[in-house]
Amino acid sequence: MQIASRIEAMKESATLAVGAKVGALRAAGVDVVGFAMGEPDFDTPTNIKRAAIVALESGMTKYAPTAGDKAAREAIAEKFRRENGIACKAEHVTVTVGAKHAIYMALQAMIEPGRGDEFLLPTPAWVSYRPLIELAGGVCIEIPGSIDHAFAVTAAQVRAAITPRTVGILLNSPSNPCGVVVAPSELKAIVDVVAEHPRVAILSDEIYEKLVFPEISPDAVHWSPGSDPRVAMRTVTVNGLSKAFAMTGWRIGYLCAPGGTFAREIIKLQGQMTNSIASFFLPAIVEALSPSSASQVETMRAAFASRARLIHAGLLEIPGMQCVQPTGAFYAFPDISALIGSRTMKGAIIRSAQSFADALLDEAHVAVVPGEDFGDCAKTHIRLSFACSEAQITKGLDRIKRFVNSLAGAPSTAKVGSVS
Ligand code: PMP
Ligand code: GLU
Repeated sequence: MQIASRIEAMKESATLAVGAKVGALRAAGVDVVGFAMGEPDFDTPTNIKRAAIVALESGMTKYAPTAGDKAAREAIAEKFRRENGIACKAEHVTVTVGAKHAIYMALQAMIEPGRGDEFLLPTPAWVSYRPLIELAGGVCIEIPGSIDHAFAVTAAQVRAAITPRTVGILLNSPSNPCGVVVAPSELKAIVDVVAEHPRVAILSDEIYEKLVFPEISPDAVHWSPGSDPRVAMRTVTVNGLSKAFAMTGWRIGYLCAPGGTFAREIIKLQGQMTNSIASFFLPAIVEALSPSSASQVETMRAAFASRARLIHAGLLEIPGMQCVQPTGAFYAFPDISALIGSRTMKGAIIRSAQSFADALLDEAHVAVVPGEDFGDCAKTHIRLSFACSEAQITKGLDRIKRFVNSLAGAPSTAKVGSVS
């Protein structure tokens, strides 16, 4: 059977691939410390579960309207207005099968294939963005961030990257994999540049919005580009319940697109793809976004902030690792270039982040995601998700430290330290 080249050429998700390896090793009885998956270890708050159970038991088992029912779309629109300052109505909102699906559809709708449409991607960036841009027929133009500037790309870099073929820019703050919040002033400077280019749309992935740590950095404050009236009509804002509400398995995302007919076109696409999400999950969205969930979200956020400090301090004690202090999401993204060229106890040569991650899993039973698929500038980094308990973090760091100390030809002291 023929396989379309655009599918065959597409890379598999590196995050899911490592996650699957961890699952297989654990099933075989291996005690793996998993820093791979960006998936909170908490359970979904009980009030949110109850809302779905009650809906299911009351017979909410039929097809729902494609974009979600009125109550859920209104709750989401109200959230966007109240928390994000985005002027939108329920009719601009679509509930999607996870934020991933929202991003897929937005890119399908924004990019004209075969025309060389360019989509700008500040990197390091989440592994799925490039494949989804390319699947839509776009050309992905990376704008590299630097570890010395906590990975934030500058407005000048964005300006220099825009060409007559640029149709959009993908922004993601707080960032996966960098674990940093881009300061509102820096994000606003980028939006200033985009505002000068009416053809350039913004796709803003704000899935980690609620996981910001102002107790670590006062700049760790979330700001939504879609709230700027100059670009509001050409900004699509994506969010979802997976991360802040510990609901990864529910597959609930949403987007809002107040400009023109974009929202209608997205609903048309979704109507041909998946139709609505499971109807009895819709009341759970209303419940999640209501004030009754806020304190549980805050408890989880505070736990992530404490873990952010713990993992950063631990990584700084490991020779050869350079790491920015995480200020949002739940990722640390150290540079391991000083370890390249070293040799493991079993004789493996560390030639890349991939070979480091492979050897670490094989020899020390710690899973991390290698940096290669997060962008060209991320090739010597590894990503550690700290969406796991402090006990696991301490155990995993201890294993990594012993592994690195056992490498032949690696630096013998913690030489670099924090860069921010
Ligand atoms: N965006 C980012 C930056 C992510 O890390 C993820 C990972 N889950 C998603 C979107 C997709 O989330 P989901 O599909 O679970 O809503
Ligand atoms: N987004 C999470 C991660 O980066 C979950 C896996 C995925 O969908 O990529 O680990």
